[in-house]
Amino acid sequence: MEEAKRIRQLPPYLFARIEKTIEKAKAEGVDVISLGIGDPDRPTPDHIIDKLCEQAHNPANHRYPSSAGMISYREAVAYYYKNRFDVELDPKTEVVTLIGSKEGIAHISLCYLDPGDVALIPDPGYPVYGIGALLAGAEPYNMPLKRENGFLPALDEIPPDIAKKAKLMFVNYPNNPTGAIANDDFYKKLIEFAKEYNIIVCHDAAYQDIAFDGYRPPSFLEYPGAREVGIEFGSLSKSYNMTGWRIGWAAGNARVIEALGRIKSNIDSGAFQAVQYAGIAALMGPQDCTYKMSDVYRERRDIVVDGLNSMGWNMEKPKATIYVWVPVPKGYNSISFAESVFKKTGVVITPGNGYGIYGEGYFRIALTVEKERILEAVNRIKDKAGPLEF
Ligand SMILES: *Cc1c(COP(=O)(O)O)cnc(C)c1O
Repeated sequence: MEEAKRIRQLPPYLFARIEKTIEKAKAEGVDVISLGIGDPDRPTPDHIIDKLCEQAHNPANHRYPSSAGMISYREAVAYYYKNRFDVELDPKTEVVTLIGSKEGIAHISLCYLDPGDVALIPDPGYPVYGIGALLAGAEPYNMPLKRENGFLPALDEIPPDIAKKAKLMFVNYPNNPTGAIANDDFYKKLIEFAKEYNIIVCHDAAYQDIAFDGYRPPSFLEYPGAREVGIEFGSLSKSYNMTGWRIGWAAGNARVIEALGRIKSNIDSGAFQAVQYAGIAALMGPQDCTYKMSDVYRERRDIVVDGLNSMGWNMEKPKATIYVWVPVPKGYNSISFAESVFKKTGVVITPGNGYGIYGEGYFRIALTVEKERILEAVNRIKDKAGPLEF
């Protein structure tokens, strides 16, 4: 049973080995603290769960949904954009429901990439961008996200012959894994670049409501010209602790939204309507839950960054996301440091090279465990992981 080239070319899953090590340690009785996985630990707010329960009883919702999503859900997305960003969207043509944004991020490559085409991919980055391009037979071109550039891609360093061949570009701010944010100037240059080279921008906004210290992340669609060149992927997963529910959206350029909807109508049959109703409750309901969750993450972030800085790191606090992106100490690479920390402390951190070659030299901490455990993890690293040099 010979597998197709497209799946044989998928990179090996780097985290499989780490997971095995964790299982083994747990079986041996080690008290493992995992700061590895970016999956919110708190429950979905009650008013959202209540709406699901109510709508799950309605037989009308037991039938096939439409693959583009209920118009009322798409209207709720438009309401959210108006309310949150003062952006007007036509829910009929400029919004499509997704079964989690990952689904749309993977499928958009099938809409626009043929073999030989290029997709511009942030490195380090969420692995789905590059994998989607590979599955479409296209060539991912990695744009390095470097600390000295604020973890923004240097658009003027992309070779023009590559930019000419590129049809899609993935951008993600607030950023996983670096925690970086993008400013107005970056978005304006991005739109100019996309216009110049005729590239579709796919902005992944999974963390647009998880932010700290008064910072409010903008939407890509707020910027003049954005809708002419691209779309934004949105997710309820991180904002409302709904990773398991599988619900999100894409919004923006009507032609791109139509193409994505066309692919989807041939592959899936849409998101469970009761989940879409729950999504409406999330997007149109009180937003204080997102502020409260941001505050929970802020407290955890402070414990991590203050703790690391007390050991000799010199880190700034990220303004958004559920991650802290940290350079490894002298004498280590990403893997050797993650392994050493795990062996000495039972604390799991994610080696940065799992997110791309430019992630080498870093590790990622996910702020998705309670603060007592985060503090315990930081203290163990302080007591046992050393001596560390910077
Ligand atoms: C978590 C995450 C997503 C969201 O995925 P869903 O499929 O909506 O759960 C998308 N992009 C990034 C960068 C993420 O970290």
